[in-house]
Amino acid sequence: KGGARPKPQGPEKVPGVERIVAIASGKGGVGKSTVAANLAVALAAEGRRVGLLDADVYGPSQPRMLGVSGRPASPDGKTILPLRNHGVTLMSLGLLTQEDEAVVWRGPMLMGALQQMLFQVQWGALDILVVDLPPGTGDVQMTLAQKAEVTGAIIVSTPQDIALLDARKGIDMFRKMGTPILGMIENMAVHICSNCGHEEHIFGHGGVRAEAARLGVPLLAEIPLHLDIRTASDGGAPVVASKAASPQARAFRELARRL
Ligand code: ADP
Repeated sequence: KGGARPKPQGPEKVPGVERIVAIASGKGGVGKSTVAANLAVALAAEGRRVGLLDADVYGPSQPRMLGVSGRPASPDGKTILPLRNHGVTLMSLGLLTQEDEAVVWRGPMLMGALQQMLFQVQWGALDILVVDLPPGTGDVQMTLAQKAEVTGAIIVSTPQDIALLDARKGIDMFRKMGTPILGMIENMAVHICSNCGHEEHIFGHGGVRAEAARLGVPLLAEIPLHLDIRTASDGGAPVVASKAASPQARAFRELARRL
């Protein structure tokens, strides 16, 4: 009697956060961070209270994509105040490091950083917290699933065989961890020429749809490869915010409505 109670080991709810949706990919460069940024802004445009946790700890790109800079404050020295832009509350390791500074941490430090970003950030009341995971199946993915009550994961892939192969491994990992798969998103399948509107299937056609059907998960969106999506993200105002009337923006709004 009187001894400290053992801490609960299982996944915990992040205080104030209704749902956590993780955006994952099997390999890098398929547009996972771009999808996470545009989805977060689209959810905000749909009137949802939304946060974005940039857990892509080795290459945090959300501060640049959302046009957020500056250091988050910690008035009490214990909790961190997130920053905000485009209606999205953001926390990223990139806000605590220089843009050209490499994160040279071992697994346990990264896992600690993720837990701090989940539980020591004052997220406030959120309908949905979007988590931008690193590519692949590593420590960060496992820590998230073990420490937080994750509503589900969305896997972003191009239709290219190699990307699909890696996406399959990602789905397998989430299933083993008991995280529900909400669906897949196909990115960059169709290139739409910003000059003439000509459409070309750069990485193949229909691969993600077929894979989603094979795995029995919904295909949640098909996002085209379009110059505006890249330039908007590089400029700190995702296409949903900067070109709200474009078909590209509408694709993300439709995705947001499905969640
Ligand atoms: P990941 O997070 O999977 O590594 P990113 O989201 O960083 O990938 O995207 C890689 C690059 O491709 C970025 O320069 C991004 O702007 C660009 N990109 C991603 N998706 C699209 C798209 N649908 N159309 C045009 N450019 C895209």
